[in-house]
Amino acid sequence: MRFLFTFLSLFISIQLLASPESDSGIFGPTYKNILNETEKWANEYPELVQIIDYGKSVKGRPLRMVLVMKQMHVKSRPAFLMSGSTHGNEFLAIETSLPLKLLEKQRIPGAVKNFLDHGGVFVFIPILNPDGYESRERENANGIDLNRDWDLAETGFKGFTQPETQQLAEYLEKLTQPPFNLNFKVTVDYHCCVGAILYPWSYTKKKLPEPDLSHHIELAEIAKKFLSIDYGTTGEILGYYPQGTTKDYYYSKYNSLTYTYEGRYQEENKYLESHVKWWEAIVSDTLKRITLASERLTLLNFPFLVSFF
Ligand SMILES: [Zn+2]
Repeated sequence: MRFLFTFLSLFISIQLLASPESDSGIFGPTYKNILNETEKWANEYPELVQIIDYGKSVKGRPLRMVLVMKQMHVKSRPAFLMSGSTHGNEFLAIETSLPLKLLEKQRIPGAVKNFLDHGGVFVFIPILNPDGYESRERENANGIDLNRDWDLAETGFKGFTQPETQQLAEYLEKLTQPPFNLNFKVTVDYHCCVGAILYPWSYTKKKLPEPDLSHHIELAEIAKKFLSIDYGTTGEILGYYPQGTTKDYYYSKYNSLTYTYEGRYQEENKYLESHVKWWEAIVSDTLKRITLASERLTLLNFPFLVSFF
């Protein structure tokens, strides 16, 4: 009997060890717990946080985004988009920690507070592929890689065959229209585990036109400084040229600065504070450019002002 008990405990332990492990080395909480976490953010910052369930996954799980913004009417709102677990087995725990960190930052004077006070918006999608995340698999429940399922106007590639990508793209487009008026400035999709930051194009060796290439590199340089990682295009870093990636779509569609952040195995969340610093630098860069653009516009509209300088 005692032998049988020992045997059974051993069997159960082996089964537990054999439970699916995430490729990022971080198993992460259940999707339900992550959804509960977003509700805590909304309870703590009711005047800033809006939860939007923009659709359902193949298996019927809610697809959720969290908007952080002040209620005000602004003609064009600069917006940043951050998403995680497009590949369900690449959870870094950054995507679920950053929102609260940035919400805390807006309590004190600084770039984040300034950005929100001027109508800026953060869009967080902690888990883009909840079915894949729950089974710790790369693909969605139909076995499709969602980072190969985005339209690409440049080549005529047709994506959006899956509910997760299709409903997200539709909702993001809606957000660019009234009453939201979002203007996507920077997007970052968090993946694992190369330890590098990638910018477009994914699909070709062809370089981005200027000044877009230099601007992408500028923010990637800052990431390198804070996070000690390499940067380049997907082809330069990984040696392949995939079509249908999120970053090619966002760049092509919205002319945003777009990145895939490839975190490090098991330990990217040790760098959380550096991620916050990188985002503060991105926010400052955007604010500086918006101010410069509006000053240029003022001079164009009132050319007589030029004579005073
Ligand atoms: Zn990935």
